[in-house]
Amino acid sequence: MSSFMLPELPYPKDGLAPHISEETLAFHHGAHHKTYVTNLNNLVQGTEWEAASLEDIIKKSSGALFNNAAQHWNHTFYWHSLSPSGGGAPDGAVGDAIVAKWGSFDTFKQEFGKAATGLFGSGWAWLVLNGDRTLGIVCTEDARTPITTDAIPLLVVDVWEHAYYIDYRNARAKYIDAWWNLVNWKFANENLAKHR
Ligand code: MN
Repeated sequence: MSSFMLPELPYPKDGLAPHISEETLAFHHGAHHKTYVTNLNNLVQGTEWEAASLEDIIKKSSGALFNNAAQHWNHTFYWHSLSPSGGGAPDGAVGDAIVAKWGSFDTFKQEFGKAATGLFGSGWAWLVLNGDRTLGIVCTEDARTPITTDAIPLLVVDVWEHAYYIDYRNARAKYIDAWWNLVNWKFANENLAKHR
């Protein structure tokens, strides 16, 4: 029987404060993410999907099954996109590729922030490696995820209201501003290194 597990956070629940509070992480990880995993397990039980990998389910399913599977994958990726020792300007190959694409980190930061803030409704803003080997900014609505396309995710920010409402109320832009202090560039570099 297939059983998906809620992963442990890669840092303590208070590790991202003051930018993302312990209370937000308690709800976002312990309630929202957990519910997607519970729903996913209930939906695959006794079906043809029982032995399928998470990636397979995301690439081949639709409806509630796709939504819960993709939200499980997206959230796991989001937790790793954050780090208590993150933030600052990117180093390594990701830093170089950002400058190659946008001219400077500041320009990238503006463009990414604009995309993440401007996404209407719920969704995700991603830094990706495109099929043509350049970097790109992609926004996906609801549970949608670049792993159903040929773009490789390097980094993500969750812009569903549940990601920021406790700390910032409706001010998504303030959450995005704070998010830059936590960005795990090491994780982005590891993801890029796997595909270059
Ligand atoms: Mn979320």
